[in-house]
Amino acid sequence: MIIGIDLGTTNSLAACFINGKAELIPNRLGKKLTPSVVSVDDDGNILVGETAREYGYMHPERTAKVFKRSMGTDRQYDLAGMKFSSEELSGFVLRSLKEDAEVYLKETVDEAIISVPAYFNDKQRKATKRAGELAGLKVSRIINEPTASAIAYGVGEDEAMERCMVFDLGGGTFDVTILEYFKNIMEVYAIAGDNFLGGEDFTQVLVEMYLRRLLVASISVLDLRTLNNVYKAAEDCKCSFSQGSKAKMVVNIFGRVHEEEFTIEEYREACEPLLEKLRKPIEKSLRDARITLDDLDRIILVGGATKLSIVRDYVREITGIYPEWYVDPDTSVAVGAALQCAMKERDKRIEEVILTDVCPFTLGTEVVRDNGSFEEPGHYLPIIDRNTVIPVSKKQIVYTAHDNQKYVNVKVLQGESYMARNNLLLGELTVEVPVGPKGQEAIEITYTYDVNALLEVEVKVLSTGLQRTAIIQNEENRISEEEAQKRLERLQYLKQNPRDDEENKLVMFRAERLYEEALGPDKNRIGNMIAEFDNAMSTKTRLEMEIIRKKLEDLLDEIEQQDYKGLVS
Ligand code: AMP
Repeated sequence: MIIGIDLGTTNSLAACFINGKAELIPNRLGKKLTPSVVSVDDDGNILVGETAREYGYMHPERTAKVFKRSMGTDRQYDLAGMKFSSEELSGFVLRSLKEDAEVYLKETVDEAIISVPAYFNDKQRKATKRAGELAGLKVSRIINEPTASAIAYGVGEDEAMERCMVFDLGGGTFDVTILEYFKNIMEVYAIAGDNFLGGEDFTQVLVEMYLRRLLVASISVLDLRTLNNVYKAAEDCKCSFSQGSKAKMVVNIFGRVHEEEFTIEEYREACEPLLEKLRKPIEKSLRDARITLDDLDRIILVGGATKLSIVRDYVREITGIYPEWYVDPDTSVAVGAALQCAMKERDKRIEEVILTDVCPFTLGTEVVRDNGSFEEPGHYLPIIDRNTVIPVSKKQIVYTAHDNQKYVNVKVLQGESYMARNNLLLGELTVEVPVGPKGQEAIEITYTYDVNALLEVEVKVLSTGLQRTAIIQNEENRISEEEAQKRLERLQYLKQNPRDDEENKLVMFRAERLYEEALGPDKNRIGNMIAEFDNAMSTKTRLEMEIIRKKLEDLLDEIEQQDYKGLVS
């Protein structure tokens, strides 16, 4: 069975195509969203999702989140002395989604289509693919998130030509994609974005507003746990702005409860610099697509952070177009990925849409530039331009740069800078050339970039016909079969928290957190219920234990409700 997966910065989810439609797959807790959070608990168990997030409030040093931002980098996360890369942490999230899907669908899930931000480079895409492999999934395609969303929005359901902008503001990334649908072909015209802008930044604004009100000069004076509570309160406050024009933040800092209320107007004012950052990628995408706003039929909003009214208003103000947001922004990418699975499987019930994507960055090589009087090395020669529709194959001819040159070394680079050294080196190929004066030998370089973001490079010496071909993978990023196997074994050796235990753990972590935060009688009530629940887990029948768990949950809801009473007005 194949499933579509939205591997998000904040949350992830899976969907599949059954009975002629896309269906979201609930996780083990019955929820559609699984937080992209991983913890290692005191017993060395790996926790994933909501349980990990709850555990993380109390044990931030044993918890990793927002690791998608480091995908494809060497960054290691230290959790209780164990080191993990972003790829491995994502592997845990994917494994959890796979297991939940298998229980829900009652069949083995061995293949997936996983979405990534359109701006992910080659390294990040490959790391995502490997994360899937670490979870035991064959990743048959990596799909751009905005493309998936457009499919979920039904772009292309009508016969007529449509041009739309997908505005995707998630937890940590922002992408703008312009695509055109015509005669069953969905063509991505341009991609622009910012890998370091998302809903979390809008939370950060509230954190700073709150601390300013409290006259806290710097976040460094707060301990990690208090700071986490401030972030949690800011997140809740941000989300409650969708229900009213005022929202409160209530946090217990150094034993005192501090309550602050904010209006949407002051929040918008503080967010102006962030909103302003949304403008550039919009303009750039239109410029790259060589169209104006008048050419657009629709603007589609996706990503959790577009639930913020200030973001929607801003999009309307600067474009003059009412954006659409009727498909749940939390799920549209996964739904699109599931529809894509159906297309891949050539499901008869869904009309096939041929997708054409674009290469999101320029690919080129390093050359010596002859300025007449002197030669300047280190220049970048683009071969495939950014936003070229893929699959694509492009050729360039270069010449030997020195007299008696024996070899030509072709550096395969990715990036937009005119200086080669500022671009990302993906790999190198060397060919022998007949010795002679400079400029005598012509070398043909062909780059072929396919829909799976694999780059094939062919270098041919025209005089001798000598040819070298390679599928480019970054050397430092390459892992051997043997190493992949070793890593897989290491990860499998780690115990993932048993599914049955999940709800109990989640309730217990939440109870412990609220116990720490509560004062007086509430603290006692939680303490007593924790003891009762703890005892029930080892002595009572499953049914009795569930009744006590429900009682504990009700108590926690009641206490949390008190804290946030009057939050929205
Ligand atoms: P995504 O990566 O698409 O799951 O988006 C996650 C981001 O959406 C996080 O920064 C959330 O805080 C934000 N988000 C989710 N729901 C809301 C809401 N109701 N109002 C504002 N932001 C939200």
